Amino acid sequence: MASCKFCLNNSVDTWFGNWCDKCHRLQRIIHLFTIDKVMSVLDNVLIVNDDVQEEKIKEELKCELTTREYKLRERKNKNKSKPLPTLVECDEK
Ligand SMILES: [Zn+2]
Repeated sequence: MASCKFCLNNSVDTWFGNWCDKCHRLQRIIHLFTIDKVMSVLDNVLIVNDDVQEEKIKEELKCELTTREYKLRERKNKNKSKPLPTLVECDEK
């Protein structure tokens, strides 16, 4: 099968097609949210300057530290019958 003409990475999803299944999905997402919305999300999330990137790294670390602290507390309280507060999951990135 030929390679996708959009991403140039994957094989096309149909014999006479030009795009792979992921690029077709991306096309449907663009139709759903408009190209401007998709570009704005990509710019804000993936393309970041140093200041913003530093803030995102700090947020990631804060979340990681909170999760570790909770796990440590959970281990300490394992033998006690006192119920634990529920863990707030970090956002998936
Ligand atoms: Zn593709």
